[in-house]
Amino acid sequence: MTPTPRLRRWQCALAMAVCAVPVSTGVLAQEARTPSAPLSLPALGDSVGQDLSPRAERRLGDRVMRAIRSDPAVIDDPLVLEYVQALWGDLLNAARQRGEIGPDLDDSHAWEPFLVRDKSVNAFALPGGYIGVHLGLMAMTTTTDELASVLAHELSHVTQRHIARMMGQQSRTSWMSMASMVLGILAASRNPAAAQALIYGGQAASIQGQLNFSRDMEREADRVGFTVMSEAGFEPGGMARMFEHLQQASRLNDDGSFPYLRTHPLTSERIGEARARMGPDGWTQALQARPSERQRTAWHALMSARAQVLMDPRSDALHRLATLSLPEGASPLQQVRVHYTVSLAKQRTGQAAGAAAAMGQARQAALGLPATQQALVWRLLTLSEADGLLEAQRSQEAATALDRPALASPMVPPQAGRPELLLRARLALAQPASGTQTSQWREAANQLQPHVSQHPHDAAAWALLSELWRRLDQPLRAIRADAEATAALGDLPGAIDRIQGAHQRFRRPNAADVIELSVMDARLKIWQRQQRADLRDDN
Ligand SMILES: [Zn+2]
Repeated sequence: MTPTPRLRRWQCALAMAVCAVPVSTGVLAQEARTPSAPLSLPALGDSVGQDLSPRAERRLGDRVMRAIRSDPAVIDDPLVLEYVQALWGDLLNAARQRGEIGPDLDDSHAWEPFLVRDKSVNAFALPGGYIGVHLGLMAMTTTTDELASVLAHELSHVTQRHIARMMGQQSRTSWMSMASMVLGILAASRNPAAAQALIYGGQAASIQGQLNFSRDMEREADRVGFTVMSEAGFEPGGMARMFEHLQQASRLNDDGSFPYLRTHPLTSERIGEARARMGPDGWTQALQARPSERQRTAWHALMSARAQVLMDPRSDALHRLATLSLPEGASPLQQVRVHYTVSLAKQRTGQAAGAAAAMGQARQAALGLPATQQALVWRLLTLSEADGLLEAQRSQEAATALDRPALASPMVPPQAGRPELLLRARLALAQPASGTQTSQWREAANQLQPHVSQHPHDAAAWALLSELWRRLDQPLRAIRADAEATAALGDLPGAIDRIQGAHQRFRRPNAADVIELSVMDARLKIWQRQQRADLRDDN
């Protein structure tokens, strides 16, 4: 297989601001050769030529994440995120078992994937173990193994300390240029003109020049990623198929929507190596089903459909998806996927009746699935339906949907998780006021409380909890939860303001308030310390 000329350039960036922009590769190639302008100096505390320490790398990553978390392109869709986190968790465990992640790196890094609402095909690693996954990548991958191969590759850039090595070598890169570059990616999806200006100003080109991984690093990420994904139980053929799939799709579609290829060009060598790693019996071995494989297949089918609907909110895109028709001879899973897509697209274009009908068809088709897939698919359909109804402010119907009995199935239904928790809280808040509301609010708050202590950076959960406490007439707890949500979204000054405001308001606290205020003070000190560190880094 010969690569097309535009795929020959081999470069990978930590985060690819320019790559998300729909311009021709020719322009980018020229720009990339422009000598880079000097950027302001960092205060990383590491001397030039040394790897960034794991702690310093994490601080850099946290800083970047604080700058981008509240951007509307960074989306928290509990269902899609849960799926990506599940794959990510399997890869992470395999990497730990193989010793790719030692205790030091494990402790210092966040190991957190996040979703970017962008229809281009891309994924990127940030310092500190944060991995951005474009919804466009999820939508174009046809199997869980293909998606896992990209995640494993990005994970390996982190575990092999490629970022640390580069940041150590290239000490001119400042903290904020990294954050602004990532913001550039996010802006590009909404405002191509702004992104163009960024490119022609040479800024993006110089940043890209600094952050490209070397060819050796790319080979290492492919090699280590392949082993990690295989040991995590994914079909090893996923990597080679991902490459082939990308190459075919990009031939048909040369519109800049494949930024991943600009940074990871598919040379025949790269594809060949991925195939060779599988050995002569690779394809046969890969076909032997593992227990969870069928479930993963169904999970991917539905979540890639969901990503496809969420990645492009424009009405013409949604209209296209709302009028999808079934291919001839579609398998039960394909049928579920098409009806599910149509239903989601109709939900989002205000066609409530059509959405409900399509969801009913998806449910009907789900009855034809193998028993191992049914419970999982049923849960995803139910949660998606309830979510759509809550979005459309049809809370009674959402309550009915959520209470639909789980499908009788030989499989134990998947554990209720974060999507259920957040939906229940939204539902409690959405229903019209009545005598029973208080107890529902209290129950939802009681369920969220242990969740946020385990996941203190869950901004969506904190925001719901804040509203619940407010309604339950617990103003101090509401303020604290609001401050936590604000901090989790990266706005430290906002979080600090909220706590300081609470002190003003509660000058004569009762005994319970005193306890709450002391918890808040402990959090305040942490945020103030972080903010001081941020300011030091800027100067
Ligand atoms: Zn790479």
